[in-house]
Amino acid sequence: MRVINLDRLQLPEHWQDRADAAIADEQDKINDHSDVWRDLKDPLKELSNDKCYYCEVIQERADGAVDHFRPKKNYPWSAFSSTNYRFACTFCNSRRTDKKTKRTGGKGENFPLFDETKRANCCGDEADESPILLDPCNPNEPGLIDFDETGAPMPAFSEAEHIGKNKRATVSIDLYHLDHADLVDKRKILAVKIAREVKVADRLFPQTESGDANIDASFREHIRFLADCANERAELSAFARRILAGYRNLSWVDGLLASI
Ligand SMILES: [Zn+2]
Repeated sequence: MRVINLDRLQLPEHWQDRADAAIADEQDKINDHSDVWRDLKDPLKELSNDKCYYCEVIQERADGAVDHFRPKKNYPWSAFSSTNYRFACTFCNSRRTDKKTKRTGGKGENFPLFDETKRANCCGDEADESPILLDPCNPNEPGLIDFDETGAPMPAFSEAEHIGKNKRATVSIDLYHLDHADLVDKRKILAVKIAREVKVADRLFPQTESGDANIDASFREHIRFLADCANERAELSAFARRILAGYRNLSWVDGLLASI
């Protein structure tokens, strides 16, 4: 998960007028106006460089969906609010059973709160809620999820360090299905590739800037690969950064992380 800046969302011409008309219609007709949120799918997708906001997998050949962060079933007044939309893949957005782990994950219509008695009943009351699910559109939240080198996601804070932050990450990993076996495998493969590149680059590093242009060029290629992995446009870039950070004891990796 990486931070998404929804302020940069470009609304198509007259979109807001259509959203206003849809919200003025009867509540049980919300889904009759699904074209309103579907028309924002491409602009939302652009903000994340075609990646699902939750798992950071590029949705190249998959359609993806506009997820209502606050589910439209319980928050009908937010059904046509562009600030309530997140671009998501099917695995994060819908309830699905992982064939390998047999575990069911996916957000569905879940939106747990720390205090259920504060659940909003009308527009404006959301300000009193403390949601448990992490929101990629809040800059302080994606960092609450960490990873290990096997590709498994985990809370950045242990229960003993901070019970609330731990709970938010644990529940988010579960409901966004960030521990889906295929996704964990994908991360693991990336970690292996990064480790291999780091190893080769580190062997070359002492010989760089010594007058051998071939060495310099070779080092640069390996560094470029690592920089591309951690770039915000890359798939699983938050994980790639995390893996790279594990090599921070190498001065050139530290320098690289500071400059990308
Ligand atoms: Zn996803």
